[in-house]
Amino acid sequence: MSDTGTGTGSNATAGRHCGLIAIVGKPNVGKSTLLNALVGQKISITSRKAQTTRHRITGIRTVGDTQFVFVDTPGFQTRHSTALNRSLNKAVSGVVGDVDLVLFVVEAGTFTLADAKVLALLRPNVPAILLANKLDQVHRREELAPWLREMQERHAFAEFVPMSAKNPKDIERLFAVCRKYLPEQPWWYGEDELTDRSEKFLAGEIVREKLFRLTGEELPYTSTVVVDQFEEEPSPKHGRFVKIAATVVVERDSHKAMVIGDGGERLKRIGTEARQELEKLFGAKVFLQLWVKVRGGWADDEARVRSFGYE
Ligand code: GDP
Ligand code: MG
Repeated sequence: MSDTGTGTGSNATAGRHCGLIAIVGKPNVGKSTLLNALVGQKISITSRKAQTTRHRITGIRTVGDTQFVFVDTPGFQTRHSTALNRSLNKAVSGVVGDVDLVLFVVEAGTFTLADAKVLALLRPNVPAILLANKLDQVHRREELAPWLREMQERHAFAEFVPMSAKNPKDIERLFAVCRKYLPEQPWWYGEDELTDRSEKFLAGEIVREKLFRLTGEELPYTSTVVVDQFEEEPSPKHGRFVKIAATVVVERDSHKAMVIGDGGERLKRIGTEARQELEKLFGAKVFLQLWVKVRGGWADDEARVRSFGYE
C-alpha cells in the first residue's frame, strides 16, 4: 500500500471529506425534492401524494473536496400500524443513528404531531440541522422568529437553515453548511457516481412515480411496482436496448380498474411516460411492458411485504 515514500501521488486523497447525511421528516415536506436537487438528477420519486417514498435511497454528490452521501427515508408512519408501516419505521430509526449529520426537514413555520414523532427519533450524539423548507410559501417571514425559538426548545439543533428545495442558490448554500459536519476521510464512491441503486431499481421507482402521478389521489399508497424482468441487449441501431417488464400490484379489483383506465388509456400513458423518462436516464432504447395484478391485503402480511423487497 504505502510504498511511494515521499511521492506526491500518495497524498492524492489527503484533505478530502466524506460522510453520510440522512434526510428525515414527515411525508410531503419535500425530502425527495431536496435529495434530487442535491444530487442534480432525479433519483427519488416525488409526488403531491404523501407516502410515495418507501425505500432507503442513497444519492451521492461530489463537490470540490467533499463527497456528500445522502439517504432519503420513508416518511415516518403514524396513522396505521400494518406490517408495511412497521418495516418503514424500522428503516428510519436504523438510518438516523448511523450518520454524520441529520437534516430534519419541516415546512417552515409549522410543527405537527407527525413532525414530533420524527423528531423523537433523533439521537443526541448526531448533529441535526433544522431545515425549514418551502420558505417560498411563507409570506410573513417575521412570524418565523417565534416559531424558531420554539423549535430550538424542542431539540438542540446545530443550525437552522430556512430555504426552498426548489431554489438552486439555497441548494448550493446547503452544501457549504453540510460540509463542516463531514469527517476528513477518503471518498467512498467515484467522483461522478450519483447513486448506488441499480438501474432495475430506478426503473421500478420511475414506473411508481408515473403510477401515482397519473392516478392522482385515488390510488392507495399500498399499491406498489415489482420489476419482473430487466434485460439489456446490445443493439446495432440504438447502442443500448433495455427490456423491462413490471407489475403494478394493487389491493382491489376497483384499484386495478383505476390503474388501467377507460379502454386501457391510463395504463398506456403510465407506460409511455415511464418509458420516455427511462430512455433519457439510461441513454438507451427501452421496451417496457406493464401488468396489473390484484393482491388483497398484502400490506398486512409480513411474508409478502418481505418478498416485495422491504426488510
Ligand atoms: P417528501 O414526501 O418529503 O419526499 O416530499 P416531496 O419531495 O415528494 O414533495 C412534496 C411536495 O412538496 C411536492 O409537490 C413538491 O413539489 C413540493 N415541494 C418540495 N419542496 C418545495 C419547496 O421548497 N417549495 C414549494 N413551494 N414546494 C415544494
Ligand atoms: Mg419522498
